[in-house]
Amino acid sequence: MPGKLCVYCGANECGTSDHVPPANLFPPPRPSTLITVPSCETCNVGFSLDDEYFRIVICTRPDLSENSAVQRLIPITLKGLDRPESSPFKRAFLDATRTVGGTMQLQLNNHRLNRVAERTVRGLHYAKSARSLPAANVNAFYELAFDPPDIQPIFPLQSILAALREEPPTVIQPDVFEYRVTGISGKPDASAWLLTFFARAWFLVLVNWRSVENELRQ
Ligand SMILES: [Zn+2]
Repeated sequence: MPGKLCVYCGANECGTSDHVPPANLFPPPRPSTLITVPSCETCNVGFSLDDEYFRIVICTRPDLSENSAVQRLIPITLKGLDRPESSPFKRAFLDATRTVGGTMQLQLNNHRLNRVAERTVRGLHYAKSARSLPAANVNAFYELAFDPPDIQPIFPLQSILAALREEPPTVIQPDVFEYRVTGISGKPDASAWLLTFFARAWFLVLVNWRSVENELRQ
């Protein structure tokens, strides 16, 4: 895609393309429905650790262990961790693991997870509208509903979630990834997205939400 600017940084000419959501979440053979957007090499390389972390978290979630795509991802993920360049990564992962009452628990780096969801929405938004979104305008929340105190400052997220669940999903691959999107009335630039990975892991992602929030506060 010569001459085009990177969807993410808007600065560099793109020499490559980025998959949204990350291609490493789709066990081979990968479906032909995967979405790609123009990206520069620097951005693309910068995403790889986030993508690897995301996949490890998916592969270690007990509630996803019955998902056949996850089962096919596990050996690939373990093999990836055996590479020498993964060793700082493994150490960081082990450092985040603690033993609670005799079982191992992982302190999730939600920031890293949310970054993958934010990038996915930026890419999907571009694929739908051919317009780039600055990173600062996109905010993801990993399984927000399980953490009710976080909901209060950004009311009315529960009603947005209910509206999103009514939307028909766009399915990229069944039981691997689908998303729903809804607009916000009177706010043409704002939208809310529900990303569902492996049928159970989900993110709420808000686009250009600041203007909606300010209005609610008045
Ligand atoms: Zn870039």
